[in-house]
Amino acid sequence: MGCQTDQELLGIIEQVKPLAARGKVADYIPALQAADQSNVSAAVFHITRGRDACVSAGDIEQKFTLQSISKVIVLALALIDQGYTNVFQKVGMEPTGDPYNSMIKLETSSHSKPLNPMINAGALAVTSMVRGDSPDERWRRILHFVQCLLGGKAIGYNKEVADSEYKTTDLNRSLCYFMKQHGVIDGDVDELIDVYTKQCAIEMNCLDLSRIAAVFANNGRDPQSGNILIDEEIARICKTFMVTCGMYNASGEFAIKVGIPAKSGVSGGIMAVVPGKLGIGIFSPALDERGNSIAGAEILKIMAKKYHFSIF
Ligand code: GLU
Repeated sequence: MGCQTDQELLGIIEQVKPLAARGKVADYIPALQAADQSNVSAAVFHITRGRDACVSAGDIEQKFTLQSISKVIVLALALIDQGYTNVFQKVGMEPTGDPYNSMIKLETSSHSKPLNPMINAGALAVTSMVRGDSPDERWRRILHFVQCLLGGKAIGYNKEVADSEYKTTDLNRSLCYFMKQHGVIDGDVDELIDVYTKQCAIEMNCLDLSRIAAVFANNGRDPQSGNILIDEEIARICKTFMVTCGMYNASGEFAIKVGIPAKSGVSGGIMAVVPGKLGIGIFSPALDERGNSIAGAEILKIMAKKYHFSIF
């Protein structure tokens, strides 16, 4: 089920390529503007195919930063570190219908709790819950966790993108100050922003991303070693958030048209999961008006139709 050969995947990429010209590369983080709009790459990681697990096509060497996709991974780590009750005492479970960086519902929600961990306010609160005696230790644990999900591969982060966001992210700072005032987070705001901007700037290619997606598809188990990397229950929570709020304000439409857990980021990456079967990593930096990779979302629509992906 689902894209068995590189050739098959290439066919889908060729089909969506013209769409990339219609979208717009994110520019509010200055360093993201440099992305080549025409790039499209995708990889599918089958959890039961052993050595032949991976199918890929397009500019697969092209690295990109995770941006919001990191929110799913760091949520898993915070749940491992702090447990369900502590995490959801600070962050809610409801979609907002507002832009990902909106502040408006923070003021009206009870105890100023961010509505969910996929919007920036919620993600910042989640990052603050990662265990560590210092911001540096928290950051190292996040990076180490991502490397574990990649079977030990040593990946890093894009310092230029992280620095560029750190210098310009006044809106995220203001979300933090608001939450600090209301006791959702504590500690130094700049230190939290430093960890968060580094986490968003973790860099990989679509093959790597498909492997992480495959861990979620495999209920938290490494698809190669079989080791448990994320508790099944935590993997289930993460996938549920991906369905309800993973594709920004297009999550409802995406659930109808595609019907699988997916999380996109402003760099143009999308991580998608077909539970029990495969993980998908996509990169194409041109975004639609709701902030999702325009060609990336179309790849998933085509695949969903062709291979009957919908979980519903
Ligand atoms: N680093 C980005 C921000 O906080 C992530 C946003 C996204 O990918 O949605 O603005």
